[in-house]
Amino acid sequence: MRAPGALLPGQTFEPSALLAPAQAILVYRSRVPLGPLGVERVPLDAAFGRILAHDAAADGRYPSHPRSTMDGFVVRSQDGQGERRIVGEIRMGQVPPGPLGAGETMRIPTGGAVPDGADSVIPVEDTEERDGIMHPGEMPVPGDAITPAGEDMEPGDIVLAAGRRIDGAAMGVLATLGFSQVPVFRRPRFAIISTGDELVDPSQKPGVGQVRDSNRYALAGALRELGAEPIHIPRATDEPGQTEDAIRRGLELADGVLLTGGSSVGVRDLVPRVIDRLGEPGVVVHGLRVRPGKPTVLAAIGAKPVIGLPGNPTSAMMIFRTIAAPILRGMTGEVLRPSAKAFARAGTEFKGRAGWTWFVPVVVTAEGPNRVASSLGIHSSHTSLLARANGFIVLTEDRPIVRQGDQIEVHTLSGGDI
Ligand code: AMP
Ligand code: MG
Repeated sequence: MRAPGALLPGQTFEPSALLAPAQAILVYRSRVPLGPLGVERVPLDAAFGRILAHDAAADGRYPSHPRSTMDGFVVRSQDGQGERRIVGEIRMGQVPPGPLGAGETMRIPTGGAVPDGADSVIPVEDTEERDGIMHPGEMPVPGDAITPAGEDMEPGDIVLAAGRRIDGAAMGVLATLGFSQVPVFRRPRFAIISTGDELVDPSQKPGVGQVRDSNRYALAGALRELGAEPIHIPRATDEPGQTEDAIRRGLELADGVLLTGGSSVGVRDLVPRVIDRLGEPGVVVHGLRVRPGKPTVLAAIGAKPVIGLPGNPTSAMMIFRTIAAPILRGMTGEVLRPSAKAFARAGTEFKGRAGWTWFVPVVVTAEGPNRVASSLGIHSSHTSLLARANGFIVLTEDRPIVRQGDQIEVHTLSGGDI
């Protein structure tokens, strides 16, 4: 493993000394442990999309009493298929008028509370009713059409674990458990700094050799998807003083800093050297055995991560997705749950390079019941590539070739493990 620290200009990336993505993440985590930044309480409606900070456990049985799952008649199954006297009607949200005696029945709506003594509900369509008497069309079966107390949640069940992202289903659980205020992790703020003499604002028309600063907006979106808050720091030119000032400003205002551009080993690639001047531990990893995204800088100043992404837009976003996001997720507090994996057939041969990790953007199309993944190629400098793609595949160090027709795992671009 190579000694940490920024390479000097003129030094080149020596492939055998570069770290593979998974190794780089491990090395970084061991040098820069990152955890959530604290807990705040927010009103239930504002909790959507936030990361739950404490386990949410059921405080009782849900439902608290047995409930009917059908509109029908509630009965005692031991009374058999004989007719029943209709002695009352159960209303929604109300306690049943009394216990159910032998030979008796009550009308019950879906969701109505089952009275003591009853153990089965006969759906209304399986009954006939004449002169206050209900005739079952079928033999009642114990437990039919009844949700027993506690079937949904038992007391103490941890239904939502700390670290879970609060989605629509979780919102419903929180409301059911009576959380009007929800403990969530504070959202980490990350400063975004784009560097490069060639960059112009999206409102400007780029001249020859200039490009619009797209990375800043792509990253702001990706940070929001991660559950973090972007803070825009004005662009820096390829001049050391400007880059340094911008990073200092970012460290003041935010919990971490993301840069794009200037991260390689050219004379104008200032980012690693400037970071190293700012404090300890400085640059932890410089250069990854990965394509796209080799010139990546993983650094920190104190407990604040400083991540230098390559300037090429496809590289920047791919490295954010595969390297930066897993690292920064430590600060959002999110614990990913294993996702449902998506597989597709390789529409063409995919050929990487032994010993390297390649992230290959793909378009997955539906061909009847099959999913077919076609390579879009790795074009680091393109801005549109990942917008056209709907996933990516990983060619690993030990499986650099996937043959046409092979089954391959497809990862989403928006998030999740790889
Ligand atoms: P660099 O990593 O600084 O060598 O940049 C590589 C290339 O990425 C440059 O030639 C630019 O075309 C492009 N690039 C750098 N920064 C940005 C940005 N913020 N938005 C869009 N493209 C960028
Ligand atoms: Mg540059």
